[in-house]
Amino acid sequence: MRPPETASHVGDVLGLFRDLGELSRIEVIERSGLSRSTVNQRLAALLDARLINAVDGGESTGGRPSTRFAFHSERAVLPCVDIGASGFVASVCDLSGTPLRHQNHSVDVWDGPDRVLGLVETAFARLLYDDDEIWGVGVGVPGPVEFASGRVVNPPIMTGWDGFDIAGWFSKRYPGPAIVENDTNSRAVAESRQTGTDNLIALKIGTGIGSGLVFNGQIIRGNEGAAGDIGHILATAADQLAPLPCRCGNVGCVEAYAGGWALIRDLSAAGVDVTSVAEVATLVQQGQMDAVRSVRNAGRVIGEAIASLVSILNPATIVISGQLAACDEILLSGIREKIFQRALPLATRNLQLRRSDLGELAGVTGLALITADRLLGVDNVDQTIATHSTPPAARPTAG
Ligand SMILES: [Zn+2]
Repeated sequence: MRPPETASHVGDVLGLFRDLGELSRIEVIERSGLSRSTVNQRLAALLDARLINAVDGGESTGGRPSTRFAFHSERAVLPCVDIGASGFVASVCDLSGTPLRHQNHSVDVWDGPDRVLGLVETAFARLLYDDDEIWGVGVGVPGPVEFASGRVVNPPIMTGWDGFDIAGWFSKRYPGPAIVENDTNSRAVAESRQTGTDNLIALKIGTGIGSGLVFNGQIIRGNEGAAGDIGHILATAADQLAPLPCRCGNVGCVEAYAGGWALIRDLSAAGVDVTSVAEVATLVQQGQMDAVRSVRNAGRVIGEAIASLVSILNPATIVISGQLAACDEILLSGIREKIFQRALPLATRNLQLRRSDLGELAGVTGLALITADRLLGVDNVDQTIATHSTPPAARPTAG
């Protein structure tokens, strides 16, 4: 049942400020279609909760129409961590998704949740200030996530994490909800919001290969959180008689031909001295012929896998990140070639394929946005305001 107009939906008005920035009272009335008195009540509630601020030195008692308001994104912080196969980025973000402080750590995700999450806790302790008010935590992991329960399910590369209650682990230590999300989904959200693109595929190509899908502005997770996992679908390049084994236990996967770990395998077999994906990218940048050939071929394998997705979903943009994205056109040209060869012409007519320019903070930015959406969306904002209406000094210490 919808609550009466005057009683709820401060989330709708707050959403305008989150999307559009500074607005005057009149602009809120025009944009929302709400009555003046309802807008007045909601602005008052949001000012009370300190989720918006009057800018230009505050509102006069007469409530002059020229006064403008803006989202108070520093009202609280969201510690977020983007865990990859070989390390993580920990960050304290504000409510608009902006990383305020961050740290990088190298750790193998194979080491398991106890070790990895222990290091994350240490990193958060260094990054958080005493007066930070924590409203929630965002966690990105390189595997399929059962979003509602905050657990990873059958992760191909996360030994020891299957069924581990990641959300519960964080909820015991930090206030507010802990949101667990697949790492490529969080990147896709960051790309989508920052470029205003509602339909995009965010492709991450590093040690492994994955994709995050945002369509109509929403993450496509699928029923089990498995949507977009293109690294472990059958590669068209796979030899039907002798498909290459994949690290997931299957054979013939896209990753087994085009993932960073597969390129290291092939280059090593060809006598090239290389042990990391970053080194593969460096060799390509230096023009080493074997490395260039391998990465160009990898691009074609990935392009063939993505072409079907493009035909089915018709994205406006495919944006590429991950360590191998540093190979730039050597990688992109192979992907582009196969997509435009195989996908439907109508689906590629206005398709943009480009390298991400968000860099290593894309993951934590997306995680903070997803966590803020949960806290400040229409369904939960009333609860969020009620929980945090007492000034922090009067509350018992969190955690
Ligand atoms: Zn596989």
